[in-house]
Amino acid sequence: MSQQEICERLAFCEFFISEIKIESIANRYKEKYCYSCKDACAIYMIFQSKGNDHIPANLYPNEYDKALKIIAQV
Ligand code: SF4
Repeated sequence: MSQQEICERLAFCEFFISEIKIESIANRYKEKYCYSCKDACAIYMIFQSKGNDHIPANLYPNEYDKALKIIAQV
């Protein structure tokens, strides 16, 4: 695991609240992105450049193309 800090959005991230309800699957995403590499997360990319208001509830952390489109359009 890298030295990066846990994502500060984890407690309220819409991805886990609205989209992923199965704990084992959620944990896989958390290990891959939230606990170790938030900068690689598509949701976090939008948060950093455009803020919370532009994050779709159904966006997955690996959907970079969608994230880049949203960032370019907003
Ligand atoms: S899914 Fe992405 S934005 Fe949400 S808590 Fe994890 S790293 Fe942060």
